Amino acid sequence: MVQLENVGFVRKRPGGEQAVILDGVSFCACPSNITGIVGPSGSGKSTLIRLINRLDDPSTGTISLNGDDISTVDPLLLRRKVAMVLQKPFMFEGTVLSNLQRPFLYRNLLPPPAGSDEVVRVISLVRLSPDMLEREARSLSGGEQQRVNLARALISHPEVLLLDEPTSALDRPATDSLATTLREICCREQLVIIIVTHDLRLAERAADYLIYLEQGMIIEEGGVSEMLAVPRTVALQRFLAKPDKEEE
Ligand code: ADP
Ligand code: MG
Repeated sequence: MVQLENVGFVRKRPGGEQAVILDGVSFCACPSNITGIVGPSGSGKSTLIRLINRLDDPSTGTISLNGDDISTVDPLLLRRKVAMVLQKPFMFEGTVLSNLQRPFLYRNLLPPPAGSDEVVRVISLVRLSPDMLEREARSLSGGEQQRVNLARALISHPEVLLLDEPTSALDRPATDSLATTLREICCREQLVIIIVTHDLRLAERAADYLIYLEQGMIIEEGGVSEMLAVPRTVALQRFLAKPDKEEE
C-alpha cells in the first residue's frame, strides 16, 4: 500500500520566490486497485508521482510504502519496488527480447532467454505475442511499444506501478485496449497502480478510484463512475465540461 500524508512540494523559482506545487495531499492507494489522478495541465500530477519513486522528495509530509517511510529507503532499491512508465515509450536499439533483458543486465544478472518463465510471464501479462520477441523494438507501433515498456517495468516484479500519461501518444483503440490490459495486470499481480492522466476516457476505463487535482490540491475524490457521473464540486464540473486538451 502506498500512503501519502499531508504531502507538500515547494519549488524555488529562479527569482528566489517559492512556488507551491503540491499542498496537503493525502491519499492511500491499495493493491489490486487502480488509482487515477486527473487534473488540468500544470496541476502537479507529474510532480506527485515523481515523489512516489523519489525522483523528487516532498518538502513536507510523508510517503510510505507498506508502512515504511520512503525517505529512508535508498532510491535505487525503491525504484525496483516502484516502477515508472512514462508517456513516450523508450525503446533501446535491438529486439523486444533484448529490451526486456535490460533490467537484468543493469543488475549484473543473467538475462532470461525467450522461453523463460520471466519473459513468458510478462509478455502474457501485456498481451504481446511471443513472435514479437525477435522484432526490432523501434519498428513497433506506439501501442506495441507501450506494451513492451510496460512488460519491461513488470519483469522486475514491482509492487507499485506508476504511469504518467501512458496513452498520450496512442490513438483511441490503443488507449482502450491498454486500459483493459492494465485492469487485468492489476488483478493478476495484486499491484498498486497509480495512473496520472488528463485523459478522462483512460481514467474511466482503467481506474477504480479517482482523485481530481487542481493547483496542487485534491479538490475531489471517490469512485470513478460516481465522480464522473455526479461531480460534487464546481471545479470538477468545469473540468468535465471542458477537459484539458493541451497535451493531446
Ligand atoms: P502536470 O503533470 O499536472 O501537468 P506538473 O507536475 O508537471 O503538472 O507541474 C506542476 C507545476 O510545477 C507547474 O506549474 C509547472 O510549471 C511546475 N514545474 C514542473 N516541473 C518544473 C521544473 N522542472 N522547474 C520549474 N517548475 C516546474
Ligand atoms: Mg504531467
